[in-house]
Amino acid sequence: SIPLSFFSGIGFASKNGILIKGSNYLEALRNVDTVVFDKTGTLTKGVFNVTKVNAVGISEEKLLEYAAFAEANSNHPIAKSILSYYDKKVDLDKITSYEEIAAYGIKINYNNELILAGNEKLMKKENIFYSKAKEVGTVVYIAVNQIYRGYIVISDEVKEDSKKAIKNLKLLGIKDVVMLTGDNEKVATAIAKELGVDKVYSNLLPNEKVDKLEKIYEGKSEKEKVIFVGDGINDAPVLARADIGIAMGGLGSDAAIEAADVVLMTDEPSKISKAIEIANKTNKIVW
Ligand code: ADP
Ligand code: MG
Repeated sequence: SIPLSFFSGIGFASKNGILIKGSNYLEALRNVDTVVFDKTGTLTKGVFNVTKVNAVGISEEKLLEYAAFAEANSNHPIAKSILSYYDKKVDLDKITSYEEIAAYGIKINYNNELILAGNEKLMKKENIFYSKAKEVGTVVYIAVNQIYRGYIVISDEVKEDSKKAIKNLKLLGIKDVVMLTGDNEKVATAIAKELGVDKVYSNLLPNEKVDKLEKIYEGKSEKEKVIFVGDGINDAPVLARADIGIAMGGLGSDAAIEAADVVLMTDEPSKISKAIEIANKTNKIVW
């Protein structure tokens, strides 16, 4: 039977906006060795602002139009930011085909033109000759009928809470704080440095995030537990693989909340150290 104080631990956590889906996770939280964070929507707000529009051979307005139509059917934070920047109406009937390629971008047919909007991996995959953006930021490259037409740089901000979250984890003696992201290396390194993240891996596809997690497990004993924290867009497999999968409850997708072992209702990463502290206290009461 479950010791009563595990219930009070879970109850106390829920009063702090931390939903723990079982006492086994409370127990695992006492032995955390490594915390792995996803970037977008987890350590950053997931709300991007357009900071640069660089059109090649067409007007900036036309480039934005292509991007807005490409992103009109996507739920990704990148899509939302481009659509809020584009101030004209998007007539969805003009989009005759739509494909979202996770961790690459979008491919649509619009006005009988084939539009690609996504990262460098998408441009490479589709054999587009493009020139790399110089700005630091998340870059959406655009090609129309296989011809490169420019890029849009968008920038996300780190959450006010993220720096404290990582500092607290280190004060609790967590050995490694890692960040995984599908975003580019420039952005990833800048954010990792700002936040004090020890290790960072960028340009990852969703399945490559699982591979990285497997690598992290190599050489660890059963007792050394690993947390993965994500907002859920494409994160469900990694959430499921970690000893403790933690999802953002506000921004997070339903799939992630479902796949997670712990849900943070306020989306604040500092709740992770709080959860560990509660777990440690619960331990003292039990034994
Ligand atoms: P993260 O790992 O930071 O949470 P994702 O795995 O959601 O990011 O996406 C990884 C990368 O894939 C993004 O940084 C972006 O370059 C590209 N991407 C994903 N979705 C879109 C989209 N709707 N439009 C353009 N690019 C996208
Ligand atoms: Mg993500």
